[in-house]
Amino acid sequence: MKYREDKSTLYEPRCPFCRDFFSRPVDIDTDFGAFSGGVCSCGAVYAFDPTGRNLGETFMDALSYACGGDYEKAVSLEAGVDYEEYILQYNYRTHSISPGRAYSLFDRRARGMLYFVKLKNIKATD
Ligand SMILES: [Zn+2]
Repeated sequence: MKYREDKSTLYEPRCPFCRDFFSRPVDIDTDFGAFSGGVCSCGAVYAFDPTGRNLGETFMDALSYACGGDYEKAVSLEAGVDYEEYILQYNYRTHSISPGRAYSLFDRRARGMLYFVKLKNIKATD
């Protein structure tokens, strides 16, 4: 039995939507400035907030990026209807996540957070 190995997979940096490994956040330039994040192979966009204290901003960075930089469109979208979101606790140094469900926006602990958003009902371009 390899329980220990099984448990370690909980810390693997995997996309909450497709369970694929995601890459360490990189600086992404947008029309509104740069943010730290990336795009998963499944189309989910993630943004990194190293303090866990700017999640609102981090979220909008990820969402507008997912909308192709269209901020107006991003703010018009409805959670759970137009997109799904996940927040993962993330350690940039070790590139690993902490197991557990998404954290609340009102959890003010200063920890690195990754905000994942994935648009629904929008077909990926081939
Ligand atoms: Zn994914």
